[in-house]
Amino acid sequence: MAETKKNIDERFSNFGVVSFTAQTKVNDFVDYLKDGKVMATQCGLCGTVFFPPRADCFRCMDSEMKWREVAGKGKLMCFSQLQFAPVGFENDLPYCIGVLDYAEFKVFGRIDSSIALEELSIGMEMTTEACRLENGQLSYIFKKA
Ligand SMILES: [Zn+2]
Repeated sequence: MAETKKNIDERFSNFGVVSFTAQTKVNDFVDYLKDGKVMATQCGLCGTVFFPPRADCFRCMDSEMKWREVAGKGKLMCFSQLQFAPVGFENDLPYCIGVLDYAEFKVFGRIDSSIALEELSIGMEMTTEACRLENGQLSYIFKKA
C-alpha cells in the first residue's frame, strides 16, 4: 500500500498560500514556477490559451496541450483590495487581487503588496512573476512593468 502512495504525483501541494489540491493533470506548472516561469497551456489544435493551465481543451475536447510562458506585459483590467479573506489568507490582509489582460488570455492573481492601492489604475501595464511565499510555497504575483 505504501508503494501506491509513493507513486502519487503531489507536486501541486507546493502551490499557493493554501493548496486546495495536491494532484492535477498540470503538475508541471509547479516545476516551471520553481524555475521562475509562469506557464499557461495552449491547445495544439485550436490554439486557445488557458490560464490557469488546463490539460484538456473544452472547445476541441482534445488533450494535445503545449506549455506556453506567460511572458511580457498584461494590462490591469480590474482590481480590488480585500478586507476579508478566505481561511489561510487572514494574516495577509489587506491585499489586492486583479486580472491582467494578455489579449489572448487573462490571468487572475495577487498584486505585489509593495504597490500602494493609490498607484493602481485600470489599463496600467504589469507583469506576472513567479515567486516564493514566506511559508516556502510557490506562487506568482503581479508587478509593475
Ligand atoms: Zn482546442
